[in-house]
Amino acid sequence: MDSIKELREHFTKLKRLGYILALLGWDQQVYMPKGSVKARAEQIALIKGMIHKKLISPKTGKMISNAEKLKNLNLIDSAILREAKREYEQATKLPIELVTEIAKTAVLGHQAWEKAREKSEFSIFQQLLGKMIGLQIEMAEKLDTGPTLYSNLLDLYEPGATADWVSRIFNNLSQKLGVILEKLHDSSDKPNQSILKKFYDSEKQWKFSMEILKRLNFNFDIGRQDKSVHPFKTSLSSMDTRITTRISENSFPDCLFGTIHECGHALYEMGFKEEIHDTILSDGSSLGIHESQSRLWENFVGRSREFWIYWYPILQKYFPKNLKNYPLEDFYRSINTVQPSFIRVEADEVTYGLHVILRFEIERKLIEGEIQVSELPSSWNEKMEQLLGITPPNDAKGVLQDVHWSGGAFGYFPTYSLGNLYAAQIYSDALKKHPSLPEEFNKGEFSNLLAYLREEVHQHGKIYRPLELLKKITREELNPNYFINYLEKKFYSIYKI
Ligand code: ZN
Repeated sequence: MDSIKELREHFTKLKRLGYILALLGWDQQVYMPKGSVKARAEQIALIKGMIHKKLISPKTGKMISNAEKLKNLNLIDSAILREAKREYEQATKLPIELVTEIAKTAVLGHQAWEKAREKSEFSIFQQLLGKMIGLQIEMAEKLDTGPTLYSNLLDLYEPGATADWVSRIFNNLSQKLGVILEKLHDSSDKPNQSILKKFYDSEKQWKFSMEILKRLNFNFDIGRQDKSVHPFKTSLSSMDTRITTRISENSFPDCLFGTIHECGHALYEMGFKEEIHDTILSDGSSLGIHESQSRLWENFVGRSREFWIYWYPILQKYFPKNLKNYPLEDFYRSINTVQPSFIRVEADEVTYGLHVILRFEIERKLIEGEIQVSELPSSWNEKMEQLLGITPPNDAKGVLQDVHWSGGAFGYFPTYSLGNLYAAQIYSDALKKHPSLPEEFNKGEFSNLLAYLREEVHQHGKIYRPLELLKKITREELNPNYFINYLEKKFYSIYKI
């Protein structure tokens, strides 16, 4: 067998083991009875061990070096080789003891974090978080892929990104978001969110979310939606994508926008071209690009006026008591209220980026040794005051709110904001090429936008690196002004400025 085919098949097997792992995880979060957790953890550890052993075996190394000798590889094969080499090198650079120690600390850390958040007491989590940061620093040293320790971690989630590059983008972004926020604050005609806090029956919310999924062309032949405590998307093969949503009867946006967000992720995974199905390339280009697809549907489409011109009359029929006499324009404004708040996942489109910038600045300093874990709550509160002008009343609403650090995900947060920036630039390109898209949304027609995304983004999976893909689509480097211009245009109109 030729060496690239051998390499491709080897990594397809690893990918399939990964899908089996994903199925165990999906079931755990959706259906599994609570008491089965120990047995499930054993099963997950077993499959993880199998994947790791196959990945780091000398056989893998030999396949890679054989494939490297080949000349004139086509686009897909050279991307397969690039990604195989990346995964192999990442895995072999890290001693198994370190990987196991991180996994164990993550389990204990998660427990401690849950308890600490519940009691709003940082000290309960402090020791294990300190240990995790130490392990992450050790991991960053071993990886040694970028110019700084933090860059090495960032590269795990956003290949090629460095701390300095992100820092330059975020400094500019935080200044511009601050200006927008101030202007909106001074408006004398602000929207009001009270309509969203009324009682919305959960069964009806579920039905509405399923109706939206169908219209957005979510393919139920190769996917499904369920409910879970924390909404997520997972793929069990290139022909099976699962999403979940969460319903809250007194906070209407949770289910609706959660569904549209995860649908955006799912449409990406459902759109990979057949040649890369189940290969190492059947994945998003990066976490940032993946997030661009969810944000594009959730915010640029799902929170647009055009979207609701079609959907609002339907929604009014679902909830006549709350909405029959409530005007479309007021509803549109209410789902686009901008208000500095403590919790990132509930933040609006303008303040969201500031929440991410806060985490980026803090975790970068933690990894580079510029602040100690004991200083975290005070650093957090200071930064929050500086960026958003508010101070959390307690640590549960401050430094303890996110799950990421307990599991060892340092360098992950920036991908959320990069996702928004990528989305704005890609969406602007879509509008340039297809100016009639918003009019189509008025009529409940979303397939031309999907066709554009399929062509430009989805089909390629992981063939291109994130910035390479962005440039291929938009013929431009990452330009955060697309995002800023989008926010100014939309929110100055909503706030009548
Ligand atoms: Zn997402």
